[in-house]
Amino acid sequence: MAKKKIYLSCPTMHGEEQEFIQEAFDTNWVAPLGPNVNAFEKEIADYVGISHASALSAGTAAIHLALKILGITQGDIVFVPTLTFSASCNPVIYEQATPVFVDSERDTWNMDPEALKRAFEKYPDVKAVIVVHLYGTPAKLDEIMEICSAHHVPVIEDAAESLGSIYKGKHTGTFGEIGIYSFNGNKIITTSGGGMLVAEKEEYTKKATFLATQARDAARHYQHSSIGYNYRMSNIVAGIGRGQLLHLEEHKAIKKDIYRQYGEAFKDIPEITLNPLNQDGDANCWLTCMTIAPGCGVTPNQVMDVLEEENIESRPIWKPMHLQPVFEEYDFITVNGSKKENGELASVAEDIFDRGLCLPSDIKNTPEDMELIIKTVRKCFGK
Ligand SMILES: *Cc1c(COP(=O)(O)O)cnc(C)c1O
Repeated sequence: MAKKKIYLSCPTMHGEEQEFIQEAFDTNWVAPLGPNVNAFEKEIADYVGISHASALSAGTAAIHLALKILGITQGDIVFVPTLTFSASCNPVIYEQATPVFVDSERDTWNMDPEALKRAFEKYPDVKAVIVVHLYGTPAKLDEIMEICSAHHVPVIEDAAESLGSIYKGKHTGTFGEIGIYSFNGNKIITTSGGGMLVAEKEEYTKKATFLATQARDAARHYQHSSIGYNYRMSNIVAGIGRGQLLHLEEHKAIKKDIYRQYGEAFKDIPEITLNPLNQDGDANCWLTCMTIAPGCGVTPNQVMDVLEEENIESRPIWKPMHLQPVFEEYDFITVNGSKKENGELASVAEDIFDRGLCLPSDIKNTPEDMELIIKTVRKCFGK
């Protein structure tokens, strides 16, 4: 018999989603506008405690529009953490702007404020900074926000992975000029695909919605003074989101418990360290990750192979952007210097990538599934 598949992170539906969709069908709101879209925007804004939101087709679209709204254009420099998913920085390229990658620190795996300071020294005319909260762990926002505001440079918070994560009492995604969330299939809540742009300034979310609906001027005839996009969320998709949002806190509680269980299960194996959670925060624990101590003879690939034999899904840590062939030409800054001046640099991000992997963190995994995952990982370390 084929072994049951154990997932990394996949959608968990509850039933209410279907009711919101049914309502959309019943009222024939099957379009990229409608009551679910407006309600979902308000509900997300209320949940994270921000004034305004614009519902979009993807988190990537939200990052793209955030850059447009902040006026990022050809040749502008934008700082992006190197340790992230490519969607954090692809939109910088869409606008023909120039990403400069910044190394991680070890306390949260996110953008290192010290490396960020060096980046500002080298590129004082930077136009925006994208901050990511990787795997749900909040970045060192106090330090980062202080550095960026001292330079009067706006922050875009890529909170695609951290919806529901708190930093010093406030939701991630609400610290920057603009925040973005993703509802892709594997995120903590999903709409199958979708995103949200949030801001305190209503002009930003209005502009996002305007650009996302083909940038049509206020005129009866079809008049356009700027280039638009087809980036709006549909009313069906928003219905799924409204149903999911009712269960976000529950998802977070289970994800946090998964992290706790792994911590407990591996505490006698000094070679294993879980991904850090920011002491000043309350992470949503979207994915639990682990790193393996150097020189112990076990590699992430070995662990992933052994898990795969049991039909257990795991995956590598995001491969740093400065190591991607497509971003080869761009600079990379660490606390020790810059790639363009110093050549290849040892980095925290690369070390995490080399030694890390993501463990199954699906909230539907049963106690038996968890037991099998844990047993399989332990076996790799001779336990
Ligand atoms: C998922 C993700 C995105 C992109 O979101 P989509 O909704 O898939 O476009 C952006 N940044 C990070 C860090 C992500 O994990």
